[in-house]
Amino acid sequence: MNFLRRRLSDSSFIANLPNGYMTDLQRPEPQQPPPPPPSAGSSAPASGSPAAERRQPPQPAPPQQQQPPPQQSTGSSFFSSLSNAVKQTAASAGLVDASAAVSAAVGRKFKLLLVIDEPHTDWAKAFRGKKIHGEYDIKVEQAEFSEINLIAHADGNYAVDIQVIRNGTKVVRTFRPDFVLVRQHSYSMAENEDFRNLIIGMQYAGVPSVNSLESIYNFCDKPWVFAQLVSVYKTLGPEKFPLIEQTFYPNHKEMLTMPTFPVVVKIGHAHSGMGKIKVDNHYDFQDIASVVALTQTYATTEPFIDSKYDIRIQKIGSNYKAYMRTSISGNWKTNTGSAMLEQIAMSDKYKLWVDTCSEIFGGLDICAVKAVHGKDGKDYIFEVMDCAMPLIGEHQAEDRQHITELVVSKMNQMLSKTPIPSPQRPTATQQILPPALLPAGFQESPLCFHFHA
Ligand code: ATP
Repeated sequence: MNFLRRRLSDSSFIANLPNGYMTDLQRPEPQQPPPPPPSAGSSAPASGSPAAERRQPPQPAPPQQQQPPPQQSTGSSFFSSLSNAVKQTAASAGLVDASAAVSAAVGRKFKLLLVIDEPHTDWAKAFRGKKIHGEYDIKVEQAEFSEINLIAHADGNYAVDIQVIRNGTKVVRTFRPDFVLVRQHSYSMAENEDFRNLIIGMQYAGVPSVNSLESIYNFCDKPWVFAQLVSVYKTLGPEKFPLIEQTFYPNHKEMLTMPTFPVVVKIGHAHSGMGKIKVDNHYDFQDIASVVALTQTYATTEPFIDSKYDIRIQKIGSNYKAYMRTSISGNWKTNTGSAMLEQIAMSDKYKLWVDTCSEIFGGLDICAVKAVHGKDGKDYIFEVMDCAMPLIGEHQAEDRQHITELVVSKMNQMLSKTPIPSPQRPTATQQILPPALLPAGFQESPLCFHFHA
């Protein structure tokens, strides 16, 4: 058993398992209903939607899970532990029969949409009654990045699993999404959340998405996105595209040249106002530079604009809206503290900004341009957001509807009418568990398990 544990923990995907799975190896098999079978579009349990399940607070563990582990010296308990370990590990790592998922996909009468979002928006409701190619329903699986894992093979097979807590028990649901809508940030240094591995996995699997996975990956560094805005600025000029003057520092070392104060320092890649500091003099600037040294990331500076209000121009498919946001609490960051939000008229100027920005990284289906309108009467564009942008204002329900229509239209364009199963190519390096060790309900397939020493 120790040998097995060592082998499992040595394997690279085990290192990436969510917390709690390796501890399962030391526990007796819990008396709990087995997870649903790993098939494409495994339906939600009768108890409720995945989002509702996630909202349930964790229950205390059943008493049998609290019992001390039994001795594992006998052959039968060894194999029971092995089977349990395989079951838990395979399920949590998404190492399920992706080929079975493909064959199940061939006959089904729905397309599976994975929505990556917080549970407060019920996307299943938004897509209810919508059809693809006039005949396929849309079945929605919704989860947050933190609940998702996946496996993708070069031959096109892939499986996504989401973990939900039901009655205090971790349940893994595995399926093969046809399309993904990403509504969460995939990376934030401030939250210490990095889900770029999942974006890479979905791209590897070739799952079509809104926005494109390529663009989402490109949005994981704000200065990388700003570099695109610099290109737009060079093309359109300062009159048509008034981009704020920004300076990029790859690290703290060059933060010696003094900018004109006051200045806004933006450290690393973070959201919701985090890591943005207004600096009034060179003493404070040196202090901030010393903080940047500790963070071991890049920073940017831009002039602090004494602003009347923020402007946000959003584009969802072909729907445009413009907003102004004015701070009430007096915080220079209008997204911190209280602020007043008003919808304003779309002008040709705003349309040009957002249309041009929507072309970066091969095209953004959903995006928003942010600017500050200074007391000097000038606009300063400082950022573009992607499909993770939060919806704001009174028309959020309408905006959700626009996102729904956009996704349906993209699914109609990008999904074939008949699912084509991916070819299966067993390779010489794959190591297959003997059938006796396969967990119950799993089909033996060259693509199922990859336990390497
Ligand atoms: P997001 O959450 O959209 O990823 P963020 O909120 O972390 O971004 P910013 O939008 O860059 O970061 O800044 C937060 C707020 O600070 C802006 O909404 C704006 O009100 C204000 N702000 C940002 N840059 C400047 C600036 N150069 N001058 C004046 N105010 C600024």
